[in-house]
Amino acid sequence: QRILANRYQVIRKLGKGNFGTAYLCKDLRNKSADEENALKVLKEISVGDLQPDETVDAMHEAKLLSKLDHPSIVQFHDSFIDGEYFCIVTEYCEGGDLDMSIQEYKKSNKKFDESTVLDWFVQLLLAVHYMHSRRVLHRDLKTRNIFLKKNMVKIGDFGISRILMGTTDLASTFTGTPYYMSPEVLKHEGYNSKSDVWSIGCILYEMCTLDHAFDGKSLMAVMYKIVEGDPPDLPSKYSKELNKVLKLMLNKDPEKRPSATELIKIPLISSHIAKMS
Ligand code: ADP
Ligand code: MG
Repeated sequence: QRILANRYQVIRKLGKGNFGTAYLCKDLRNKSADEENALKVLKEISVGDLQPDETVDAMHEAKLLSKLDHPSIVQFHDSFIDGEYFCIVTEYCEGGDLDMSIQEYKKSNKKFDESTVLDWFVQLLLAVHYMHSRRVLHRDLKTRNIFLKKNMVKIGDFGISRILMGTTDLASTFTGTPYYMSPEVLKHEGYNSKSDVWSIGCILYEMCTLDHAFDGKSLMAVMYKIVEGDPPDLPSKYSKELNKVLKLMLNKDPEKRPSATELIKIPLISSHIAKMS
């Protein structure tokens, strides 16, 4: 049985992502009486290609991430180097990722009702707002990076793509999924906080329709729709107010697209936040 850093016992492989492999682990140093708290996720990323100073940068960045503490962000616990791997240890979310839930709903022909969509969306928005106010961008928001725990959503992999890519490296950007990429990113105009807002707009659309906001038969077709296509409408099952919020977030011009701070002030959103707390 494999134990890393003298502390994390591998239970099983959760899956393989763009950057490495994720494992469910048991933290042997967990002192909490609650056994569930001992379960953590360990991500193992090959650092074979990183320069020594880049590895130091990655360690530094990981330290910063460990200071972030928000109920809707997967808690970062630890990071270390193990041989050729850079390892990151985070909170485990037993409900799996949002993509899994969406696919399940799609199979059984169900739709999430507006109150569920709003709950989840507001949680995501508050998490993004928290990160942006600390000058941290996500850069890889997608349904597979959003996790469910006790029916609450949590954003995972925050800041990790920056650790792994250094600056925005388009080569590695394009190995990822294009569905949530903003027009400015596709046009090489640079990633900024509004690009994260675009991505959660795409996720909002997907929570309602169970389909991608911008889809096509090929990578080029998807990218063309993102840059040139009209933003889609929500089905009439959802309120006009929610549709308006979606349209604001899918504005192709990042300057005109609202920030997380501006979105929180919209009555539909602010009244929902008031109801939650
Ligand atoms: P990607 O984001 O590219 O899918 P990851 O390495 O982030 O790749 O995730 C690999 C797998 O591990 C996915 O199936 C994901 O659902 C699962 N996973 C990642 N992080 C967690 C977590 N904190 N809790 C539960 N499952 C997770
Ligand atoms: Mg991920």
